[in-house]
Amino acid sequence: MSIKPIKPASKEEVSPETPVSTTVETAEGIDTSKQPLSTDALLALIATLTQQNAESNAKLAEAILETTKPREILKTKQQIATEENDRLFFEQSKELRRRQKETKQREQLQCDHVAGSLGETKDVHQRTSIVWHRTDAQVDIGICTTCGRLFHPEDQIDAQGHDYSYWRRRGSFNRISAAGVRQFMNPLKAQHDSFLRDS
Ligand SMILES: [Zn+2]
Repeated sequence: MSIKPIKPASKEEVSPETPVSTTVETAEGIDTSKQPLSTDALLALIATLTQQNAESNAKLAEAILETTKPREILKTKQQIATEENDRLFFEQSKELRRRQKETKQREQLQCDHVAGSLGETKDVHQRTSIVWHRTDAQVDIGICTTCGRLFHPEDQIDAQGHDYSYWRRRGSFNRISAAGVRQFMNPLKAQHDSFLRDS
């Protein structure tokens, strides 16, 4: 493979020196009949121009600063309406949840947790409607099938003046279920964690 020599630039490609024009062209339309400005008048004119320049510079600076300010995002009417709708919906559902929780709590306070409370006849032996379940941490947790109240050894004494052991001792209409036995590093923690707490 042969290497071709680089072709030297031809004379035509080299731009010739641009001739500098020495003649000053006179602008047309300038009234030369008027007297030239006096030095004082010229200074006054310069002063005025400088003043105007300073003013417009100040305005420009102000305008530039204005563009750096954070702007409020303009929302469309549709966006405002949708947001208001969402807010109302959220408020209403929050209120609904609050009322449902209240109703449930009232039901649980009034419930005697006796089997058949919702039917025509209560259980003649006054057995409870509590379903018990023994967790793998060997904790018996219960739930009333009538009102949904949960029972756990950490329960406080309830509105009817009964503690957990009272309800646990009462005979239940339902057979207990069990999860089996598991060994825990921290059995007390496992027993505490065996119950989902409703905040
Ligand atoms: Zn109940």
